[in-house]
Amino acid sequence: MKEIYLDHSATTYTDPEVLQEMLPYFTEVFGNASSQHKAGREALKAVDTARERIAKAIGCLPSEVYFTSGGSESDNWAIKGMAEMHKDKGNHIITTKIEHPAVIRTCKALEREGFEVTYLDVDNEGIISTKQLEEAITERTILISVMFANNEMGAIQPIAEIGAIAKKYKIAFHTDAVQAVGNVPIDVKAMNIDMLSMSGHKFYGPKGVGVLYKRNGLRIGKFMDGGEQERNMRAGTINTPAIVGMGKAIELAVENMQANNEHIAKLRDYFVSQVLEKIPNVYFNGPKDMSKRLANNANFSFEYVEGESILMRLDMQGIRVSSGSACSSGSLEPSYVMLSIGVPIEIAHGTIRFSFGKSNTMEQTQYVVDQLVSIIDNLREMSPLFKEIKGENIYV
Ligand SMILES: *Cc1c(COP(=O)(O)O)cnc(C)c1O
Repeated sequence: MKEIYLDHSATTYTDPEVLQEMLPYFTEVFGNASSQHKAGREALKAVDTARERIAKAIGCLPSEVYFTSGGSESDNWAIKGMAEMHKDKGNHIITTKIEHPAVIRTCKALEREGFEVTYLDVDNEGIISTKQLEEAITERTILISVMFANNEMGAIQPIAEIGAIAKKYKIAFHTDAVQAVGNVPIDVKAMNIDMLSMSGHKFYGPKGVGVLYKRNGLRIGKFMDGGEQERNMRAGTINTPAIVGMGKAIELAVENMQANNEHIAKLRDYFVSQVLEKIPNVYFNGPKDMSKRLANNANFSFEYVEGESILMRLDMQGIRVSSGSACSSGSLEPSYVMLSIGVPIEIAHGTIRFSFGKSNTMEQTQYVVDQLVSIIDNLREMSPLFKEIKGENIYV
């Protein structure tokens, strides 16, 4: 049977070229990068190369790159570290309603400790209003945390504008760029980003490794107590093979960004047009202007059917997708991101995210269209909700 992976926003495979570069660091160059002997120095050299590659990819200094265990840790550290260090100055944080749970739940945890958090609304395409952001700022605001690109419907925020506002009011600006790194050009200095989270496994690197970029001069609390790794800011023996892999992966991603995006967007655009043409009563969620969304993302809500049923049927045909985000699946609550962009609750239940990757082909895309058309048709035939459909799309 065909095996078609369209869930690249949940995770990507490790690129074979990346894996090749990692392998020696498991068995041959296995020293602790903190050790002073040759084995340690060799590991440290590889880590330094990775640090330079990451710095180059986002326009910062190598000394501003801190290795972590992934996107969730970076988000937690940036926000909690800022809150802890600057709580005397203020207790107000501004974020959005559509952040990843690693940000939303971190903010909720801080609220329980007495912080005040403003969760900005987004418009019906998932973009915040910079005017509302500016209005939300108070004397006690210490942090703005707005994601670069959304994991469910791919909306890209006006990051440079947000950075300019943060700078004007001298407030630290953190962005969860886990979905953006490798897919969108990033320059933390030009965009006035003070902290940025990334995760290796979202751009064809290994899982369990990430980075927090933190501007030199910005002070945040430590996240863990322990050894003095990462300039005494992040305790724990660093994961040399994974760091080497992430460094290679980001270099490849940035080098091939344009070519990959052209290929991926071509498949995605064809897919979107086919779905809207062939399936009635479907909503295309997120920005309609494709330049405002990630090239890999297509998100639809199919009326009269459950996302989980679609997901299972597609899975049986070898097609791997996600209903909403992987983190909220398993519960019957519709995605809060879909509700935030104004998708009615009944319709939000029928949401599926298709996220394309560099190895997908046009032939696969056509197969998915064909399967999806018949699955939706079939499920609707069985649906008691489904009455008469005139064959018109809601969005055209
Ligand atoms: C995947 C993801 C995360 C979490 O990253 P992990 O490395 O899996 O912890 C955080 N934010 C966004 C936007 C993501 O897509």
